[in-house]
Amino acid sequence: MKLDVNVLRYLSKEEFRVLTAVEMGMKNHEIVPAELVDRIAGLKHGGAFKNMKTLLRHKLVHHDSSKYDGYRLTNLGYDFLAIKTMVSRGLISGVGRQIGVGKESDIFEVVTPEGETMALKLHRLGRTSFRAVKSKRDYLKHRNSYSWLYLSRLAALKEYAFMKALGEHGFPVPRAVDWNRHCVLMTLVEGYPLVQVKKLQNPERAFDTILGLITRLAEHGLIHCDFNEFNLMVDDKENITMIDFPQMVSVSHRNAEMYFDRDVECIFKFFGKRFNFSPSGLSKVESDMNGGGGVDSNNEEGDGRPDFESVAGGLGTLDKELSASGFTRKNQEVLEKFVEDAEGLEEEGSSEEEEEEEHCIVHLQTEVDNVDEHFSDLSAFNMLSVSNGEQEAGTESTVLSDDIQGRSISSTLSGTEEGTATKLDAGEQSEGDADSSSGEESPEMQKRLGKQRRRAAAAVRTGGRAHTSRNASKDKGGRRSRHVSSSSGYDF
Ligand code: ADP
Ligand code: MG
Repeated sequence: MKLDVNVLRYLSKEEFRVLTAVEMGMKNHEIVPAELVDRIAGLKHGGAFKNMKTLLRHKLVHHDSSKYDGYRLTNLGYDFLAIKTMVSRGLISGVGRQIGVGKESDIFEVVTPEGETMALKLHRLGRTSFRAVKSKRDYLKHRNSYSWLYLSRLAALKEYAFMKALGEHGFPVPRAVDWNRHCVLMTLVEGYPLVQVKKLQNPERAFDTILGLITRLAEHGLIHCDFNEFNLMVDDKENITMIDFPQMVSVSHRNAEMYFDRDVECIFKFFGKRFNFSPSGLSKVESDMNGGGGVDSNNEEGDGRPDFESVAGGLGTLDKELSASGFTRKNQEVLEKFVEDAEGLEEEGSSEEEEEEEHCIVHLQTEVDNVDEHFSDLSAFNMLSVSNGEQEAGTESTVLSDDIQGRSISSTLSGTEEGTATKLDAGEQSEGDADSSSGEESPEMQKRLGKQRRRAAAAVRTGGRAHTSRNASKDKGGRRSRHVSSSSGYDF
């Protein structure tokens, strides 16, 4: 996906106002009626329609006249609103190349006004799952369906809150800098995802560190739930950084033990296949010495697997602390339900690809086409935002006072401008279907993602190289020269 933020610089204040109006209308409408956009934007007669042309041209909104004359925000439109906010907060000044594409996210390099390179993760809940959900509407007849804006935003809030808390408790994670809408800004991790590493100098140490992370998380009351070679980054000193937190659950979750065991199993399988490493020879004493708290003490098989009961019974209350972070229990329930629905649907519709895939291999890191080696400078855009206080406040309040389908999201991150929110909000309430309209990715992109996941899965099984994109080797070269010293001991 190409994120051409240059467009941002040329959008007028009024065009942004109309874009914001579409976003606000989407609280209650899958497709926002044209008159409502006009009313929310509050421009002089016909103002919204005039400005809509530019938004349509740049694919920031999509026109839909199937039921009535209306518009919806595209992924790109939502991206722009979030990026604009990040720019006006003085956090970023440029967007660079895409450095990752996950199952439900896109990750870009961004640059701060101070010149530091960071990572911006754009959540796209619904990229894959909503497609399945939408194609099986009957399945959802008696269930709630959620808007992709709302869910992506919840995922971002959760990721930010968890990353911040984990960092504060000494876990090796990127530093959580800020979040807005569906975006999380974090520090850039040096190195590569473990899935791309063919050889380690010291697989035993890496294994112990990684397994130690799973047990330490559980001791703190948490389970990662997607703990695998795609979500562990390794640098040239073989330091491990853990990423990707939107699916974490508390150890008190009803399926906690199953999730815990699944995380452990993924690591055992991966190390066995890729590095031919297995700790099965470990005695309890050895494993305790290796810092694998609780490892195997109750495990009759003596295979080195940590036992959930003995590690999760500790006093860690990070799960409880987190519920005070702005990410509420209710939010967690909504996200969990979405993930469960999506998983259920994936299992139901067992295509060849899904049967082939091992459960733990669901994400794929890849470098993608359209690589921009330079950052698009957003300084002009920044000036636009600064000189446009009123509208920016409107954008902010949309985010912070958002209440889709009656669920309020309180945030302690910054204040809201209630007045502006009221002014912009036309106050129209309806039982509009807030279901997804996440049709931004072409079938081609979907196909490509599917293919990439299959290849990665195959590569992991055979211990082979995960050629994930046409430009993979080129991009890797780029990343190596930028972030990893050439003395790396890895064999890719
Ligand atoms: P998803 O939830 O879609 O799997 P991830 O958070 O796992 O998204 O990110 C996808 C890929 O993007 C990762 O495998 C990694 O290669 C890259 N990535 C994510 N966060 C960072 C970061 N902070 N620094 C460097 N690369 C990152
Ligand atoms: Mg991931």
